[in-house]
Amino acid sequence: MITISKKFSWLSVCFLLACDAEVNQPEVGEEPGEPVDLSSYFITPTLCGDSEGPTCTSLRLGDAYLTTTSPAQGKLFACVAGNAGAPGSNPARITWIDWAAGTWNLLAKPFLPSGSFSPQSGSVSVSEDGGIRSITVNNLPVDGRIGDWPMTQYAALSAIDGNPGVPAATNVTFNIPIAPVVSVTPSCTSLGAIGVTLNGVVLYNAVDARGNDAVAHEIVDEFGGHPAMSAYHYHFLPERLDSAPMSDGHSGLVGYIRDGFGLYGYDGEGGVELTNADLDECHGHDHSPLGYHYHATIEYPYTIGCYRGDPESASFSSVRTVDDKAGGISYEVKTEPVRAFLKGMIAHHQQALDMVALVPRSTYGRDIREVAVRMHITQSEEIKLMQYWLNGDVIPDDDVGVVSGDQDRLMPGMLSEERMAKLRTAQGDDFDRLFLQSMIEHHKGAIEMVHVFLERFGSLGETIVVDWFIDHIKAEQGIEVARMSRMLARLP
Ligand SMILES: [Zn+2]
Ligand SMILES: [Zn+2]
Repeated sequence: MITISKKFSWLSVCFLLACDAEVNQPEVGEEPGEPVDLSSYFITPTLCGDSEGPTCTSLRLGDAYLTTTSPAQGKLFACVAGNAGAPGSNPARITWIDWAAGTWNLLAKPFLPSGSFSPQSGSVSVSEDGGIRSITVNNLPVDGRIGDWPMTQYAALSAIDGNPGVPAATNVTFNIPIAPVVSVTPSCTSLGAIGVTLNGVVLYNAVDARGNDAVAHEIVDEFGGHPAMSAYHYHFLPERLDSAPMSDGHSGLVGYIRDGFGLYGYDGEGGVELTNADLDECHGHDHSPLGYHYHATIEYPYTIGCYRGDPESASFSSVRTVDDKAGGISYEVKTEPVRAFLKGMIAHHQQALDMVALVPRSTYGRDIREVAVRMHITQSEEIKLMQYWLNGDVIPDDDVGVVSGDQDRLMPGMLSEERMAKLRTAQGDDFDRLFLQSMIEHHKGAIEMVHVFLERFGSLGETIVVDWFIDHIKAEQGIEVARMSRMLARLP
């Protein structure tokens, strides 16, 4: 058992994955050089339809407004600077940011639309006891409004942001003080959960792993969230959640921040939309009858700029989270089985990429080409992620040799060399049939690997990152298997 260094909190790692999956231009199925019309993915928030509040067409880009030294109005006080080398969306493909002016246009940014994706219902329960308010959610939206994940189905969007995530339920409990106290000095925010909405979804702060403005850079769904692997989250307040104003028009409560103070919607007293200038450096203010509270704005830092109370007075737990005391979460990894699992899964994914590489010269089937594009994105993003874990400090390297013998047993669903050779020479419908059959077996094999792993080692419990990844693989592969099975049934 090895305790992972705190500099990689689980959330920052998860954050790295999907929030900011680096984009690989898909090599199949997309005509290069064609200008892409994204207008069918635009949204028109009511917030942007009036003259109150920030101007949606030229919002201040938050990239330059992260500080690690001291809190300041309009800035995000972060515990650590971003990592410029972290993967992220492809800036060359972002058309809605005016880099020279340092602004971005919310009305010209694409959002993942709704579709057939329908995870289990969201849940939230709030109870109070002994001065502690406990909020338990399953991290899926209670109102059921979520985009059509995975985004890899949308070539135009995944070319910008390669996020392969598929949201799945994770139980999370926040225990926070009912009567929080304003601290003498505000605290910095870390990547990962800074609070939770009454819609059952956790809130992250304003930035991605690069330290950039996540709302400006990353593609989220039209309901405001996106997954880091399976962990769905909001970086700003979806405006529909700000729907129950108080009698004077002041927005109602929409969630709680980890220090125990409430988060309210976009409007202050008299129902007037707020800007950073109306709020303090932590993005809150103090007025009756609410006392101190935070507000959402549609400009960076969107939710909070720092913790006005004490975030460490809260305990934040889930089936997969533990000690969160020093702003980072420590956890343990059973190093050997995890490394072996990841190495096996990389080899497994690599074979899927080998199959995908055959598609352009072997078929004219448009469906197959679309499958190939999605596979290329998800399998290569996941390989990068697994390599990052193996090579970085995240999963320490010890006794790797001990487990190498297990790999064969861990890799069901891989194609024999003979079968691959057949696939290499097949053409047209024959290729399509063999490709689909092989890819279905391959995907089922990956799910089987997950089950074998879990059977042998149990849920990793505290190794949140890997557990989430395993959930993600199950969800993503399951969706693709169902889709490919339908395609196979339609083949002549
Ligand atoms: Zn994110
Ligand atoms: Zn207020």
